[in-house]
Amino acid sequence: MNQPADSTDNAAARLRHLNQYFLEHPVTGPVEGHAPTTTASTPVSLGTLSHIDASVREIIKHTRKANPDAGQAPTRAAAIYDWAREHTAHAPEDVQQRRDVIEYRQYLEHAVRAGDWRKVIRPHRCPECGTFGLMRRGGRILCTNSKCTDTDGLSTTVTLARLAHEHVTGRKNLRRTRTT
Ligand SMILES: [Zn+2]
Repeated sequence: MNQPADSTDNAAARLRHLNQYFLEHPVTGPVEGHAPTTTASTPVSLGTLSHIDASVREIIKHTRKANPDAGQAPTRAAAIYDWAREHTAHAPEDVQQRRDVIEYRQYLEHAVRAGDWRKVIRPHRCPECGTFGLMRRGGRILCTNSKCTDTDGLSTTVTLARLAHEHVTGRKNLRRTRTT
């Protein structure tokens, strides 16, 4: 088993990686709506920058809504998750769960953006049929179980938000005593 360890492979580490990538690969030409013809797994810097920005803003928004006294957010992007946890540590359980779901969803999003979807998506079961075999195709996450389809016979698609929700609530159900 090669499951991501929380201590090393998490949203903060993934965001740090994206940030680093952006700094090392500044945009050198015009970027239209689609990726330039670089290697398939190369993130597009301009899109990466706005992705980082949107991710950080989402965390800040959720944290300030839960705790208006949260104060100044950290300037280092990857520090945002620790900041969010610190300022929602005493929030109601549903707020903390929502925070964990957002963080985990962003972990998935960061990894997908870096072209690393296999490592982070494949360890998840399909929420509909419970089997492994989720694939990313055409920007969507599909279940490859041929019996797992919608009423039109199309493969079940799963959002990263749903995977994150299943993961976080499943984990909490298994380990109620987990502390943050
Ligand atoms: Zn399925």
